[in-house]
Amino acid sequence: MSRKPLIVGNWKMFKTGAEAKATARQLVCLIEDRKKVEILICPPFTALSVVSSVLQGSLVQLGAQNVHWGDDGAFTGEVSAHMLLECGCRYVIVGHSERRQIFLESDAIINSKLHKVMEKGLVPILCVGESIEEREADQVEKAIVTQLEKGTRELNLKQRTNIVIAYEPVWAIGTGKTATPQIVQEVHRILRTCLADNFSWKVADQIRILYGGSVKAENVTELMSEEDIDGVLVGGGSLDAQAFARIVEAC
Ligand code: PEP
Repeated sequence: MSRKPLIVGNWKMFKTGAEAKATARQLVCLIEDRKKVEILICPPFTALSVVSSVLQGSLVQLGAQNVHWGDDGAFTGEVSAHMLLECGCRYVIVGHSERRQIFLESDAIINSKLHKVMEKGLVPILCVGESIEEREADQVEKAIVTQLEKGTRELNLKQRTNIVIAYEPVWAIGTGKTATPQIVQEVHRILRTCLADNFSWKVADQIRILYGGSVKAENVTELMSEEDIDGVLVGGGSLDAQAFARIVEAC
């Protein structure tokens, strides 16, 4: 089964509109002719519109880092899927570990977000991953399978093929400690088998499973050579256009 690699840059709470515009411009020039992979950047909300205009006609797509589960209403500080669509987004990261840990998002909330995102025609990138405590207690499978099953609850047949999963072990995010390709492949296989058990192998084989956690140009080729690693989600390594372009190149 061939799955087109997806390379995602998550800019987190970095860059003003002007800075984001400059980085996006640089990136578009650097990766003009990379057609074998799908490339996506996720700037902060405040930079989405300006980055969207820079990305027009380029191969780089736009995504958001978060979304609310409602259509509209009295939700101070939140942003709806409809608003993201208006800004030109195609993807949304849902359930990043920083959202789960710092903002206490539960699997139920994450599932509601997933449903709303898909109802509006956006593609969710559902993040799952174990903490260091769970890894040390041999609870990796339990942790990631629980997050995956609860996060993807009650998706219809069409929605099931239209999601992206990102495995992001919490201990590898922003720490410089990348999980080895063997560890990642093992977990991705568990995730794909879980998708097959809950959906079907036909569906599971179509779903892209990305890895995230201290990815850089030096380690991405080895990671991408594993059978079940279909792309990467890059935080720190995506903030600089040249560094991110090198990651894309290495893929
Ligand atoms: C992330 O933000 O999802 C991430 C993986 O960060 P980093 O690449 O900095 O570890």
